[in-house]
Amino acid sequence: MESRNNGTPRSTRNSKLITRRSELPMDIRFAGEFYGESDEGFIAEHVLTKKEREFMFIFSDASVLEANNPELHILVFLEEQNQTVPLPAKNKLRSIIKYLRQTDDSNVGINYSGNILSYSSESSIKEELKKRLSEREKSISDDLAASKDTSREAENHKAGKRYITMAEDYLKEAMELGASDFHIEAEESKAYVRLRIHKQLIDIDEITHHDASQIGLAFYSEFTRGRGEGQVKGIAEGTYNESSLLDAEFSRKIGGNISLKARMVNIGLNHSSAFNIVLRLIDKTKTSEAIPFEKLNFSRNVCRKLRILETASKGAILVVGVTGSGKSTTLQNMVQHERDRTGNTRKIYTIEQPVESKIDRVIQINAAGDEGKDVPADKNFSFDNINRSLMRGDPDSIMYGEIRDAITAKAMQKGADSGHLVYGTMHVKSAIEAYPRLESFGLSRENIARNGFIVLVMCLHLLPRLCPHCSIPYRGKHSVPERYSEFDAIANYRKKSDSRNIMREVIAAQKSIQPGMSLLRELQRKGVIDSRDVYDLQQKIKIMNEGSESAAFGDRVESVIRSSMMPREDTNVRFKGPGCKECFNGTVGVAPVAEVLIPDDSFLSFVREGRLDRAELYWKSNLEGITITQDSYEKIVSGMIDPRDAEAELPELLGS
Ligand SMILES: [Zn+2]
Repeated sequence: MESRNNGTPRSTRNSKLITRRSELPMDIRFAGEFYGESDEGFIAEHVLTKKEREFMFIFSDASVLEANNPELHILVFLEEQNQTVPLPAKNKLRSIIKYLRQTDDSNVGINYSGNILSYSSESSIKEELKKRLSEREKSISDDLAASKDTSREAENHKAGKRYITMAEDYLKEAMELGASDFHIEAEESKAYVRLRIHKQLIDIDEITHHDASQIGLAFYSEFTRGRGEGQVKGIAEGTYNESSLLDAEFSRKIGGNISLKARMVNIGLNHSSAFNIVLRLIDKTKTSEAIPFEKLNFSRNVCRKLRILETASKGAILVVGVTGSGKSTTLQNMVQHERDRTGNTRKIYTIEQPVESKIDRVIQINAAGDEGKDVPADKNFSFDNINRSLMRGDPDSIMYGEIRDAITAKAMQKGADSGHLVYGTMHVKSAIEAYPRLESFGLSRENIARNGFIVLVMCLHLLPRLCPHCSIPYRGKHSVPERYSEFDAIANYRKKSDSRNIMREVIAAQKSIQPGMSLLRELQRKGVIDSRDVYDLQQKIKIMNEGSESAAFGDRVESVIRSSMMPREDTNVRFKGPGCKECFNGTVGVAPVAEVLIPDDSFLSFVREGRLDRAELYWKSNLEGITITQDSYEKIVSGMIDPRDAEAELPELLGS
């Protein structure tokens, strides 16, 4: 980069007009500060020489910027004379740019505030500038230190220390809030940082497009390389480019008590500079001990049926459900149960694509997939080859991970047919659907319906688990809480006075809220929002709840209570509360609802004849089949899940 110094124009007058971010030279894209962009143009600021701290400014046509939000402020500063002048974009921009183009002073800069900064006074501008300059100084010295032993290529693809810290801080916050997924949704100029906590997806922060891509770079290029003390290497191919489709995986220790594994996917949108980063977060501090199903909040009925696992020694165990239903975790727990109940006297293998989390004393093999780059490309490790080897590897049990195609389905069948206990997950919506799905993968109906092949199919869903401290008791069908809460209204709300994200303050307010008090009032009391916001939000809640038919919903809750066979006074239906210091937004995790199918001869003969509807009826009437929706009723009447959440995830509750 040093060599560019002399030849590069110092005055903005000679700058090349660039209208798309992708046209920027690579070193500017990665090393430069980047303050704003739109479809048509942007302004970028770039460090030309590290030692001398000079700036070059590239900007688009004035007319393009004028088309932007007129409320944006353009900040002009003459660094040498230490002058700062905030100017509204609309009327002054043309003259500023004209001025910049005339001057030969290389220390004149224009700084575009984008959507992240809101300047209100000259002193705050100076402070911001000072901060920027000292950060720049620091990152330059970091860069210099790093450049001593890295090539120029590596330099350009290395995230700054600041972004590594930022990325770690976000992951720390996510783990502390119990998030299962971390999202960055980057639009053309700004980006939303989002967390999925107990199934709810919330915006936690808003950052610039540039920050988002630098954080992506930190995840993909730094964390996967295992840089930093005590960190381990992960998996990523090539260099990070936020506009493409990329997979990666890394483990990271943050501070003394957080250890996580993340599976990352970067999704470019292929038609704009917007992109998405999603990280599935796995807590590595969690134990590898088997957890009793009762402790995982499975219902009595489901636990009773799962006892068949205690004696099963051959055949297939299938756990099915939709994405995010906890299939893999449940299957892993079943394998741990087998290991523990047999006193580790059985040889257990897994073939996974890829290995998800470590299971002690179980031999886990990573299979090469055709899709995705997060698994080894070695074709010796194809699913088929591994399975063939395992058959000669004296197995007792084999876990196949997701049964997703003919290869995996046939491998599982082969494992079961040769007298082993095999496990797999499938992506179907009910237990009975596992049968036609296996047929669609090319297994013959005769084989699928063979007695002894499938021992058990469990279908799962996860629902938010209500906080016992702040949940609201049901007081009759005429007083059910509204569908949407104050939190729902505030989740995407932007304040009247400024537009920053206030989610962290909302979460803090939920922790200090007094019983029976409103979240909006608590936020007002703390000075986060004012009376105009409260009024707006109350209107918003009203509109959101229009037509939500509380009366009909109350009737459905009543029939669930009646169908529960429990004396009414023993039922304890509850709704999600306003949040408290014991929970996140009224929930304390997730609870499973499930249905379990254990086939017998008559059931299998219906399957063999292709009469699945008869098979299903038989399951319900003769095999004590309790559907997942019915299973959710037990959790509703015991106050563990909100009937509204059950309706959102499963078919509508019983009508009256
Ligand atoms: Zn609570």
